[in-house]
Amino acid sequence: MLGQMMDVPLSISNLLVHADRFHGDTEIVSRRVEGDIHRYTYRDAHRRSRQAASALQGLGIAPGGRVATLAWNGYRHFELYYGISGSGRVMHTINPRLHPEQVAWIANDAEDEALFFDLSFAPLIDAVAPLCPKIKHWIALCDEDRLPALKTVKPIAYETWLAGGSADSAWPVLDENAAACLCYTSGTTGNPKGVLYSHRSTVLHALGSIMPDVMGLKATDVVLPVVPMFHVNAWGTAYSCPIVGAKLVFPGSGLDGKSLIELFEAEKVTFTAGVPTIWLGLLQELQKTGQKLSTVNRMVVGGSACPPALMKAFKDDYGIHIHHAWGMTEMSPLGTFNALKEKHLSLSEDDQFKIHVKAGRPMFGVDIKIVDDAGKELPWDGVAFGDLLVRGPWIVKQYYRRDESPLVDGWFPTGDVATIDPDGYVQITDRSKDVIKSGGEWISSIDLENIAVSHPAVAEAGAIGVFHPKWDERPMVVVVLKEGRSATVEEILAHYEGKIAKWQIPDDVQFVDELPHTATGKISKLKLREAFKDYVLPTAGEALAGR
Ligand code: ADP
Repeated sequence: MLGQMMDVPLSISNLLVHADRFHGDTEIVSRRVEGDIHRYTYRDAHRRSRQAASALQGLGIAPGGRVATLAWNGYRHFELYYGISGSGRVMHTINPRLHPEQVAWIANDAEDEALFFDLSFAPLIDAVAPLCPKIKHWIALCDEDRLPALKTVKPIAYETWLAGGSADSAWPVLDENAAACLCYTSGTTGNPKGVLYSHRSTVLHALGSIMPDVMGLKATDVVLPVVPMFHVNAWGTAYSCPIVGAKLVFPGSGLDGKSLIELFEAEKVTFTAGVPTIWLGLLQELQKTGQKLSTVNRMVVGGSACPPALMKAFKDDYGIHIHHAWGMTEMSPLGTFNALKEKHLSLSEDDQFKIHVKAGRPMFGVDIKIVDDAGKELPWDGVAFGDLLVRGPWIVKQYYRRDESPLVDGWFPTGDVATIDPDGYVQITDRSKDVIKSGGEWISSIDLENIAVSHPAVAEAGAIGVFHPKWDERPMVVVVLKEGRSATVEEILAHYEGKIAKWQIPDDVQFVDELPHTATGKISKLKLREAFKDYVLPTAGEALAGR
């Protein structure tokens, strides 16, 4: 027997219809690359998104056609999120921090037909356009007056293009399983792979993400997603905020501490999300200037492990709770989110903190397990670590245009190594390819980095395995010192004493001015390993001499 309820498909356009009807005068504020602040409302955004949908028709892009963006977080990008997906086309955000050849490779693999870009990426377009002959339309996110002259293609101005569209027509009713957006993984091994989200997966993920023990978003929140709209759809915030009617603040290209503090204060931001590197930059700026954040009360950190020292500094010195989240492009991206359970409330602050630093527990909709090399499930005791597998309605089943399935018995292998405690809290030990293997034993690079960053002179640290004649690999930590601070190799190594087993203490420390980062703002272990591939550890000579 079937249920007898209405069959209304889940669709992305409905999120904005809802925001227009019930939060129509709530603001969306954007810092534009043009240099000024732009303000309008959900009602305006809805009208212009429908115009964009209609203007896409004019470009001759059929339903299902892929439309790319190279853009910061801003209101025009937001309109495209809805105009493209809502009209039945596929919104394809590309990370502009990638090398032009990678951008072109991704656009060609996706078979993008049009590309919308922010003015800051005009030089990138000149590098990419000759490599992408299939892209027929190049649209600059600006008005006619600011239209850039490019060497390779003749772009059209977004505002002129949009004016040709009509806001009169209603959104089409789409199959909820129709493709809605496409994101590529960074492809640290091999070529990037596309993850093709559906309307259904996107709406379910957004609904899951607003729950109280997840992002807990409300109509009284002012949300500033620092995480870019080209990094797994800004972790769903462009979809979740319209559901609850939260005010949205888009930072454009100003992701440095100073620009963010200005916007947090001016717009009374309550909630923000980003990768650890961003929050490190913000903390340094706050410490340097002595400023406080008067309205921010929750921050989400994800994308890579958050050093506990960073969480502690924000909590103790600024009263801001950092929620640790874990996920990946293949998971839309949210998988786990950190929030306490009732039984934890009676714990001491120190014991609560031990829970806070973990990656959190799965939100409803995500199931997890850890397995050993033979695929045998491991216990949830917080000690046993193994490959982390996931499943759920917003997790990838198949990569875009790839035949083979990545699934193992219906589960997606994340490539992360983790422990799970009896309460379901996940702790990511490492990415399996970043684990340091010393004499057959595993050392977590995340643990080594977290300890280094808890040293008062250390701003950022990356731990890698370096060749060793006796142990195959030994850990080394590469450190960036805080401005005006100094420390010696011995001091950093002494800081590890008592915090970790003796054999896990790094063999060496290297000081650098800057660490290499990936296009999504994570420390690039690949580049770090490459930079030190011929490095001879001081302990290597001792081993060779038989000492
Ligand atoms: P890319 O690295 O290609 O940008 P993702 O953004 O999808 O791709 O990265 C997902 C990976 O980031 C996860 O598999 C995991 O290794 C890492 N990651 C994400 N969040 C966390 C976290 N809270 N702690 C540790 N690692 C994390």
